[in-house]
Amino acid sequence: MAHPLSHQDWQRKAQSLAIEGRLFIEGRYVAAQGGGSFDCSNPATGARLASIAQGQAQDVDAAVASALAAWNDRRWRGLAPRARMQVLYRLADLVEQHADELALLETLDMGKPISDVLNIDLPEVTKTLRYFAECIDKMEGAVTHTAPGSLHMILHEPLGVVGAITPWNYPLLMAVWKLAPILAAGNCVVLKPAEQAPLSCTRLAQLFIDAGGPAGVFNLVNGLGMEAGRALALHPDVIKLSFTGSTRVGKLLMGYAGQSNMKRVALETGGKSPQIFMPDLYDLDAAVDRAVGGIFDNAGQVCNAGSRLLVHHDLQTAFIEKFVARTQALYQPGDPLDPATTLGPLASQAHQTKVLADIARGQSEGAQQVMGDTAIAMPGAYVPPTLFVGHNRMAIAQEEVFGPVATLIPFDTEAEAIALANDSVYGLAAAVWTRDLKQAHRMVGALEAGVVWVNCFGDGDMTQPFGGYKQSGNSRDKHMASLLSYTQSKSAWFELG
Ligand code: NAP
Repeated sequence: MAHPLSHQDWQRKAQSLAIEGRLFIEGRYVAAQGGGSFDCSNPATGARLASIAQGQAQDVDAAVASALAAWNDRRWRGLAPRARMQVLYRLADLVEQHADELALLETLDMGKPISDVLNIDLPEVTKTLRYFAECIDKMEGAVTHTAPGSLHMILHEPLGVVGAITPWNYPLLMAVWKLAPILAAGNCVVLKPAEQAPLSCTRLAQLFIDAGGPAGVFNLVNGLGMEAGRALALHPDVIKLSFTGSTRVGKLLMGYAGQSNMKRVALETGGKSPQIFMPDLYDLDAAVDRAVGGIFDNAGQVCNAGSRLLVHHDLQTAFIEKFVARTQALYQPGDPLDPATTLGPLASQAHQTKVLADIARGQSEGAQQVMGDTAIAMPGAYVPPTLFVGHNRMAIAQEEVFGPVATLIPFDTEAEAIALANDSVYGLAAAVWTRDLKQAHRMVGALEAGVVWVNCFGDGDMTQPFGGYKQSGNSRDKHMASLLSYTQSKSAWFELG
């Protein structure tokens, strides 16, 4: 999505941007019943952006009641598949028509460079909406072979009211990875976006109505995780909870499901993804470019960020030299409203404090810091791209930093690389760089990760199921599998006499 606007144009547009921070229930914006609110601010400047309604349990009750009424009277699932498809197609069109506004909301709210929102996030949002719209009339049940006199059909039916709780790193995209298949399958939904970056999702709720979506089908409750999120996860009328966020909160949600109605809990959680660079790889420059992008895009706030660089000893010196040079060339900090900026601030000052503490811990546990020891002289929540050389048992190599911090770990053999890669509680993604496809195939089989890339990193499209092994989650976004996960099967057995 090439964009002609200049830095000054965006700054001007930002001045006159209308921001909505209320809840969205039964097709309209409403204040929180308790009257509470919290501020959201721009992490690039610290300036207050808007007041966000602080939804609490009673607001979640109202949102779930609205979704349940829409479910019960079949105003969405009762539509012909083509009619539901048209709503999601129109929603994708509206996202494109409002791209400037949505990009501004995203950039101001979480600090993501505006070029990234326009070139990555929003095109992915529209692709997701259109992919799941296309799937709606491709979902088929089955008629199984039975003895004469019987007929057996397997039907896929939507679930009911689904709750979605989403993070702040790709605020709109992560929400749409949930919303599109939830809605395509015929469910009604209540979304609780992250408190740090709720603006784009709040705007999307109205766009759903503008696209012809019935009121009550898509509801949104802004608020804090411990209040609104927890209330949604404990709600007895929510049949499934779909979550993207940290492993810590994912574990809590499984507990809430057990304490309430045993709702299904789909988790897309944290990661500490290894990229393995074998000594025979094709092109070290190309591999290093993807290593740099894999950890510094979105300032490292990416669930599958390639934060562990497993580099063969023979490559180590050249790898580090090139990595430092390419980082300096590609990731210069700047105002995220400037289309030339490639490195924005982190999403909040609190997150900056956490990431800086992780870096300090890396230093204190003896990891060698080869890059990132000079603070960025800008007022926002910036963290310099950082590279450590260390070993895999260090906290800096085991715990998710969720910032622009990579740890390089040298190895000598394929077996050692696999053992290091799998020595993690996480298993979201991994990559292997080698020219030996037989070796690559063997390593793909040995890696404990939901996504494995060979001679690339981060590539994929909507046909790629995305999700993790181990404590990176128990579910998959994207792909038809995601759509089916928001349905349940019904077996209908007819005795025909
Ligand atoms: P987070 O702290 O777990 O928060 C995620 C969401 O959960 C937010 O909406 C949050 O609300 C809510 N929440 C917090 N405590 C809750 C509770 N007790 N009950 C119910 N909801 C609660 O994660 P984050 O910091 O926003 O996002 C970063 C994490 O997301 C990283 O670990 C990253 O790896 C993961 N992530 C995973 C994927 C994937 O596909 N696997 C994709 C993107 C991100 P508040 O914001 O109000 O606290």
